[in-house]
Amino acid sequence: MNKSNKKFLEKYSRQIIMDQVGIEGQKKISKSSISIIGCGGLGTSAAQYLSMSGINNFTLIDNDYVDITNLNRQTLFTENDIGKKKSKILSRRIMEINKSVNINSYEEKVTSSNIQKFINKNSIVLDCTDNFESRLLINKYCHYNQKILISAAIQNFDIQAFILASWLHKKNPCYKCIFPELINDNEASCDEMGIIASVAGLAGIIQANLTLNFILGLRENFREFILVDCINFDIKKILVSKNKVCKVCNS
Ligand SMILES: [Zn+2]
Repeated sequence: MNKSNKKFLEKYSRQIIMDQVGIEGQKKISKSSISIIGCGGLGTSAAQYLSMSGINNFTLIDNDYVDITNLNRQTLFTENDIGKKKSKILSRRIMEINKSVNINSYEEKVTSSNIQKFINKNSIVLDCTDNFESRLLINKYCHYNQKILISAAIQNFDIQAFILASWLHKKNPCYKCIFPELINDNEASCDEMGIIASVAGLAGIIQANLTLNFILGLRENFREFILVDCINFDIKKILVSKNKVCKVCNS
C-alpha cells in the first residue's frame, strides 16, 4: 500500500468503518464535485463538513467580503479576515482541512449569464444564498441542466431544507413548485429578521448531510420539505408534489 492510500484510509477510518460508507462509499465521497453558491452562514458550515468528510472537488461562489456582522455565524471566518473576499478565505480554510482538495473560487454574484461556468457537469449544487431571486435562478438552472439541488433557508430559529431533482421524475417538485410567488427579500433576510449562530451552522450541516446521503445512495426522496424548529426541536417532513402549473418544471 502506498503512502497516500494509507493516509486516505487512516484519515477517513471512522467513516469507512461504517456499513453505510465502506471504502467504496468513501471513494464516492472523494470523487464528488460540489458547487456552493453563497459562502455565508450556510455555505461556510456546509463546506466545512463536506470538506472534513473527504469531498475533493469544490467550486465556491460569492461576491461578498467578510464583515464583522458575519462572524456570529459564518464558521471558518475570523476577525483577521474582515474586509477580505469570502470565497478566497473559504478556499484557504478548506485547503487547511484537506491538502489534496481541488477548488475553483469565483468572486461573482450568480446571474443567468454566468451560472453555467460555476457548475461543472458532475456537480451537486448547494444553494446557500440568502435571497429569493438567486434561489429561483439556481432552481431553474438545476432543473434544465439536470442537477441535484440541495437548498436551505433560515429565519430566526427555523430551518427549511430540501433535496430536489425535479427533472428526474414527473412527480418530483422544484423550488418554484413549493414557492410559486416571489417573497420580498427585504422582509425575509437575515439582516432584517436576525439569526443565531447555531441555527445557521445546523442548516449548513443539514445540507452537508443531505449531500452525503445522496452520494452514498442512502436517501433518494426528492419530495420532502424538511422543517426544523430549533427551539422545541420539532422536525416536520411535508410531502410536496409537482405543482401542475409550475412555470419551471411543468412547461
Ligand atoms: Zn416546479
